[in-house]
Amino acid sequence: VLKLRPSCECCDTDLPPEAENAVICSFECTFCLSCSQGKLFGICPNCGGELVRRPRRPASKLSKFPASTERVHKPQGCGGTFA
Ligand SMILES: [Zn+2]
Ligand SMILES: [Zn+2]
Repeated sequence: VLKLRPSCECCDTDLPPEAENAVICSFECTFCLSCSQGKLFGICPNCGGELVRRPRRPASKLSKFPASTERVHKPQGCGGTFA
């Protein structure tokens, strides 16, 4: 099951499960849309994979498959380079 992380790794903004501005890579690194477009150019700074819009989980499924509460914040990785 996809981990729905609660925040952007770059700017730590809240990304609740129903957020429409969350993007995610295949390793579940999670960012907000403005960081993805403004700083990351659609590429995950951790793995180099593409960032795509995170699908929203239906509210009826969130009780059985709750969103992750693990906040990941790695602003040093968000400069737009992979160095
Ligand atoms: Zn962000
Ligand atoms: Zn990634």
